[in-house]
Amino acid sequence: MIDTFGLLSNATFIKSPFYNQRPNQAEISLLAIHCISLPEGQFATEHIKNLFTGCLDCSADPSFADLQGLEVSAHCVIRRNGAIEQYVPFEQRAWHAGVSSFQGVDGCNDFSIGIELEGTDCTAYTEAQYLALADTTKHIQVRYPLITKDRIVGHSDIAPGRKTDPGSGFNWDHYLKLLID
Ligand SMILES: [Zn+2]
Repeated sequence: MIDTFGLLSNATFIKSPFYNQRPNQAEISLLAIHCISLPEGQFATEHIKNLFTGCLDCSADPSFADLQGLEVSAHCVIRRNGAIEQYVPFEQRAWHAGVSSFQGVDGCNDFSIGIELEGTDCTAYTEAQYLALADTTKHIQVRYPLITKDRIVGHSDIAPGRKTDPGSGFNWDHYLKLLID
């Protein structure tokens, strides 16, 4: 279930400071799927939470040097075990897509929901993640019916050449099939 603020009832809400108001709430019409792991390939760490809440210790790993001062978030993160964390209510604008465009409209953060799967581009995602993502997608589509099947995309689709996630490890056929079951 999704409440009036756009919070999922089965997610743990952890408030991110990295969000603002959408220019037009009525236009929530795109779902963007991403992946993240920090450090890359290491799972179940606290670093994603720390990044999205502005608390990341950038000296904790050499690969975090680029993340200094970065203000990013996503609406949800789905962990390897299927647990869902929500960082920004869907009604608000999360900062996940960056420079992006869908069907000629720039700035996808304005009108999209961003979900991060804990993972890497080329590691298979877990079945628990597919099930949680499909279940969450169904709730989102009930609440935001403009998000039709052809408006569910990867970050790589809206930021080609710049982003590659969720990568070849993401089985689109399997996910889309779960949506109709
Ligand atoms: Zn992404």
